[in-house]
Amino acid sequence: MGYSDGLICRECAATYPAEARYVCERCFGPLEVRYDLDAARGRVTRDSIEAGPRSMWRYRDLLPEVGDAPVDLGAGWTPLRRADRLAERLGVRELWLKDDTRNPTGSFKDRVVSVALSTARRLGFSTAACASTGNLATSVAAHAAAMGWPSVTIIPSDLETSKIVMAAVFGGIVLGVEGNYDDVNRLCVELVSEHPDWAFANVNLRPYYAEGSKTLAFEIAEQLGWRLPDQVVVPIASGSQFTKVAKGFGQLRALDLVEGAAPRLFGAQAAGCSPVATAFAEGAEVIRPQKPHTVARSLAIGNPADGPYVLDELRSGGGDCGSVTDEEILEGIELLAATEGVFAETAGGTTIASLRQMVRRGSIDPEGSIVAIISGHGLKTVEALEGRSTVTATIPATLAAAEDALASRLLVGAR
Ligand SMILES: *Cc1c(COP(=O)(O)O)cnc(C)c1O
Ligand SMILES: [Zn+2]
Repeated sequence: MGYSDGLICRECAATYPAEARYVCERCFGPLEVRYDLDAARGRVTRDSIEAGPRSMWRYRDLLPEVGDAPVDLGAGWTPLRRADRLAERLGVRELWLKDDTRNPTGSFKDRVVSVALSTARRLGFSTAACASTGNLATSVAAHAAAMGWPSVTIIPSDLETSKIVMAAVFGGIVLGVEGNYDDVNRLCVELVSEHPDWAFANVNLRPYYAEGSKTLAFEIAEQLGWRLPDQVVVPIASGSQFTKVAKGFGQLRALDLVEGAAPRLFGAQAAGCSPVATAFAEGAEVIRPQKPHTVARSLAIGNPADGPYVLDELRSGGGDCGSVTDEEILEGIELLAATEGVFAETAGGTTIASLRQMVRRGSIDPEGSIVAIISGHGLKTVEALEGRSTVTATIPATLAAAEDALASRLLVGAR
């Protein structure tokens, strides 16, 4: 079927079978899924991919083995839209939005969960779990519900209301932890050893989970007509999406499915949680953990597991990493909405604001093509805009009052 070929340690290259393991026994390095690209070359073709389903599973040959059929709520194959109005405002020539707000539960996490839980089912698990900043819990709970599995999702207790509601509505157990994501994650690592029969999407199933993000790169290239963009802006929480977008472009090039240079990858972080951006700017060897404080809750990971690999990619690939204030994040949400009709959550605002910042300081080339990954829907974080996005005026129900209120204001379309 596919061309995945067990697991390999990212540090010492020790290999393992495709089981539920995530750390190397020899060196404690993280494991990732390995592929036999020599066998895939000439067999995985543009035609074979284009003949597949209109979902991320059209790239099944380049994803982990899933058994008979993947767990599929319809993740992926989201629109790639040209964003000329936003491009003009940012002073860039060719800008595209990868609109991952359109996934089944409203964030890119549906891609990674679809792979993680498909693998979990193949490996014989029957309970889904995760440590989450919100979106992952929602996606795990939704996919588990559709599989008829119980789920246990663990989140910081003080998340946005819609994220808590969305995690809980699917009927699984949701534990709100008094602490931040890094506390949640530490707890989950302990829980994995107590409950090895639970499939924690981003802990014991993490190598498989991570692979789902490659489909962002695959789709971007295919939707551009099998062309690589020059530059891609990726939001960073744990850094998993960033490293796997890079891996996805690398695999397409290795299989000769696309020509040309690897895209330069750029990160996006909130100033209130910017461990990667800070280490990159300081030229530091190691990433110093931070205590997050930002409206971009979905990106609030102070001790990012994949941070060192993101730093390597940023440095070797000629990238850069934005770090933007909460005010800039909210402006980013509003600018994207008002120019392109796309409503993103705070992570999307972080991506747009970081893009603007890196264009201004000259690290992003305004003449080269750019793709910005918009990873979550604005309905998930409406609180962030409370008091900003609200009625223009409250009026009595009379024509005179309406005309009066309109007379003194520009119509929204003219903005
Ligand atoms: C989880 C998440 C990300 C990035 O996550 P990584 O841990 O870096 O892979 C980006 N955007 C949104 C909306 C998310 O929920
Ligand atoms: Zn190792």
